[in-house]
Amino acid sequence: MNVKDKKIENTPKRQGLVIFSEIEKGAGLEGALKIKSEQVVAEISASNLKGRGGAGFPTGLKWKFAAQEKDEQKYVVCNADEGEPGTFKDRVLLSEYAPLFLEGMIIAAYAIGAAQGFVYLRGEYKSFVPALEDELKEMRKNSLLGENIGGKKGFNFDIEVRLGAGAYICGEETALIESLEGNRGEPRNRPPFPVNTGYNGHPTIVNNVETFAAVVHIAAKGADWFKAIGTEKSAGTKLLSISGDCGKPGVYEAAYGISIKEILKMADAKNVKAVQVGGASGICVPKSQFSRTIAYEDLSTGGSIIIFGQKRNLLDVVENFLEFFEEESCGQCTPCREGIPVLIEAVKMLKKGECGKEYLKDILSLCETMQLASKCGLGQSCPNTFISIIDDVKQEYALSKDSKQEKAFNG
Ligand code: SF4
Repeated sequence: MNVKDKKIENTPKRQGLVIFSEIEKGAGLEGALKIKSEQVVAEISASNLKGRGGAGFPTGLKWKFAAQEKDEQKYVVCNADEGEPGTFKDRVLLSEYAPLFLEGMIIAAYAIGAAQGFVYLRGEYKSFVPALEDELKEMRKNSLLGENIGGKKGFNFDIEVRLGAGAYICGEETALIESLEGNRGEPRNRPPFPVNTGYNGHPTIVNNVETFAAVVHIAAKGADWFKAIGTEKSAGTKLLSISGDCGKPGVYEAAYGISIKEILKMADAKNVKAVQVGGASGICVPKSQFSRTIAYEDLSTGGSIIIFGQKRNLLDVVENFLEFFEEESCGQCTPCREGIPVLIEAVKMLKKGECGKEYLKDILSLCETMQLASKCGLGQSCPNTFISIIDDVKQEYALSKDSKQEKAFNG
């Protein structure tokens, strides 16, 4: 078997409560087409489904805004630009569950009144294009795409696959739309929001692959079934891409409310120093907080869980993440463009024991400015890991009494 033919498998194989649970092909769409489009929006709202890409915006509300627009042309976009370091759960959906999330897109099109959809695939996932195209052909053959879908007169919709060119920032929905339009992928000012003025100026909903997959199950099994899983404020499950220092890395489906401790047990991780939740833009959770849970009301994540063993230097981790952001920043706004190199320099000084107490205070204030004044999520979230580890770094250095760093912190 050559590399091109190799299928990326869902490892470890396991059943889940929602996405990895059994469902008959077409059952979600059949359920949706039995009711009016506004009832579909109401059902998705009632389910409390929130966006699975990381931002956590209520899906039903997003659809409602787009559905209310009077424009004749509307668009459904599947954000498959999975680029957050440590996140690889959409890859499993793209390779093994394409009919499921594509069906979710069709349901969304019916709900908001869209005739065109796009799967925006990250450039590095180019190898999935032929299989996705085959699946779309099959769906056209079975009248799941095209005209009068499912026998519903006037419900016309089709999907096109578009490839990104490898920029992390295109995971941000307005930068993604810019890229779809053939422009340089840079975030737009908001408002207006894509639900009002999106692709080519028309109402557009952009949802993550996992969100569309969950929609199908909700349309088939109902909002109450979905809401009964997870916590009161975080309905359903989350696909987690678990990597790092553990015995069983892979993609797992867990009900919201699962604790870090339980995740570590599931992934066979021992002697863990810290866990990065939410990828490079997320936060680093120290051992003392391992009873915290994955939920919108506690630790929110687009799906990335990276485990760090005792031998890892967390400052190396932060430096690595910041260098990634420096490379990926689009450079439009000053706090992000100028702030990241300063932060990298500060981390280097900390590692050498040359960062004094006053300078550290200035750096933390810079982090705050970046979080508040950057234009998009990249600049707003890139100081998160640094902030989350700084108390532990101080403690670690303070424990080694002869370190230069300890003198710097106290001097
Ligand atoms: Fe570009 Fe960074 Fe500003 Fe976002 S925060 S718009 S990535 S410069």
